[in-house]
Amino acid sequence: MRNYLKHFINGEWVESTGSDVEEVINPATEEVIGKISLGTKEDLDKAVKAARDAFPSFSTMPKEERVKMLERIAEEYEKRKDDIIETITDELGSPLTVSEKVHYMMGYNHFSQATESLKEFTFIEDLGGHTRVKESIGVSGLITPWNFPTNQTSTKIASAFAAGSPVILKPAEITPFAAIILAEIFEAAGVPKGAFNLVNGTGEVIGNGISSHPDIDFVSFTGSGKVGQKIMQNASETIKNVALELGGKSPLVVLEDADVEKAAKVAVNHIATNTGQVCSAATRVLIPSKMKDSFEEAVKKVLSEFPVGNPREENYVGPLVSKKQWDTVQSYIEKGKEEGATLLAGGTGKPEGIDKGYFARLTVFSDVKNDMTIAQEEIFGPVMSILTYDGLDDAIEISNDTVYGLAGYVVGEDKDALRKVATSIRAGRIKVNDAEADFAAPFGGYKQSGIGREWGDHGIEEYLETKTILGFPS
Ligand code: NAP
Ligand code: MG
Repeated sequence: MRNYLKHFINGEWVESTGSDVEEVINPATEEVIGKISLGTKEDLDKAVKAARDAFPSFSTMPKEERVKMLERIAEEYEKRKDDIIETITDELGSPLTVSEKVHYMMGYNHFSQATESLKEFTFIEDLGGHTRVKESIGVSGLITPWNFPTNQTSTKIASAFAAGSPVILKPAEITPFAAIILAEIFEAAGVPKGAFNLVNGTGEVIGNGISSHPDIDFVSFTGSGKVGQKIMQNASETIKNVALELGGKSPLVVLEDADVEKAAKVAVNHIATNTGQVCSAATRVLIPSKMKDSFEEAVKKVLSEFPVGNPREENYVGPLVSKKQWDTVQSYIEKGKEEGATLLAGGTGKPEGIDKGYFARLTVFSDVKNDMTIAQEEIFGPVMSILTYDGLDDAIEISNDTVYGLAGYVVGEDKDALRKVATSIRAGRIKVNDAEADFAAPFGGYKQSGIGREWGDHGIEEYLETKTILGFPS
C-alpha cells in the first residue's frame, strides 16, 4: 500500500490541514493501491506563500547554478528508474515496457533537454537601442492530467526551474504517485526550499484555487478543453498568464504512394500506445479512396501485433485509466455504430478472456464521415476512424475541418506531397513518416488545442517575462 497522506510544502513533508483522503486504484486489477490526502485551500495558501518567499533568491540564482541543479535532478531521476516504472504501471496501467520506454524516458529527456536549452539561453541582450532582459514570470501553478504522469509534470517543472520560477504542482488525483517520487527526487537533488511545492487534491478545490489565486502569476495546465476554459475564466480576474495544452483529433494522411503495411502499423500504433490516451494521437486516418480495401486488410492484420492484457506481462496495451474513462470509450463506440460507421474491428465490451480491469478492445471504424461524432470529438481511448479522400486538397480540407490543431501526420514517398500536407495542416506539430521525437522541438496546439508551447527553449520562455531597459549603463 502506498499511503502518501502528506503534501510537500516549503521543503518539507507536511500533514494536510483537511481530513479527506482519496483511494487510488490500479486500473488493471481494480484494487486499491494506496491513498492520498485531498488538500485544502489552507494547504494551497501555505504552498503559495512558500513559493513567494522563495521567489527573490530562486529567480536570481545564477544560470550556472540552475544548470547544475537540473543536472543533479536528472541524476537523481535515473536512480529512481525502477520505482518510476513500477509506479506508473500500477497507477496508470501502462505495460512495463511502455512505462520504461515512453513514460520514464520522457521525464528524463525533459530534464536533460531543459539543461541543454538553459546552457544556450540568453537572458540579457544588448540590442543597440535597448537592452532586453528575460526574467522569471513569478510563482507558477502547474495542473497536470493522468495520462502521462511524468511527461507533463517534468516538462513544466524543468522549464520553470530553468527560468527561476518557483512552482506549486497539483497532479491528477487518480495518478498521483509518480509526482510524489518527483518531489523526493527534488528533495534529494537539493532544490531550494519553497521552489517546489506539491499539493494533492481535487480540481474543484486545488485546481480552482490555483487558477484564481492572487499570488500566483502564471498557470500552466494540461488537460481537457472544458477545464481549460474554466482556468482562463478564473485567471482573467487577476490578468494571470496561462498556458494550456488541451485535446486533439489529429489526422494521419496516408499518401497514394505509401507502403500500405507500414502506414497501417503507424496508424494502429497511435491507438495502441498508452491505450490511445494520448492528446496528440492520430485518431482520424485519411486514406485515398482507391486504397480503402488494401488499407483495411492491412490494419486488421497489424492489430494482432499489439496485444492487450496484463501490463505486468508482455503486452503492449494496458487498461484504460479508470471506470469513467472505460464508460466514455464505450459510449463513443456505440455512437459510432449509431451514426452509421462500419465497425471493422473491436467494439464494445472487454477483450476476450479478460473480465477484470478497465480493458477495452482496439477498435477500428471505417466509412467514417468527418461530421460524425467519432471524427470530431476526442475519445481518448483505442478507437481509430478511417476516412477516405480524393486528391490532396480534399485530404487537407478534411484534416483541417476540426476545432483542434494539436498535431498532424503524413506518410508516403512523394516529397512535394509530403511537404504540401505538412505545411497545410493547421496544427502545432507535424510528423512526416513517423519521424523520431525531438525534445528540443516546441509542443503545443493551434485553435482549441491550446495556448503556448512547451519543451526545450520554448518551454523556458513560458516561465519568463520580457523587460526592456533603455539606457542601461554598460
Ligand atoms: P481534466 O479533467 O481536464 O483534468 C486535468 C487536471 O485538471 C487534473 O489534475 C484535474 O484534477 C484538474 N482539474 C479538474 N477540474 C479543474 C478545475 N476546475 N480547475 C483547475 N483544475 C481542474 O482532464 P482529465 O479528466 O484528466 O483528462 C481527460 C481529457 O483531458 C482528455 O479527454 C483530453 O481531452 C484531455 N487531455 C489533454 C492532454 C494534452 O496534453 N493536451 C493530456 C491529457 C488529457 P482532478 O485530478 O481532480 O480531476
Ligand atoms: Mg478529471
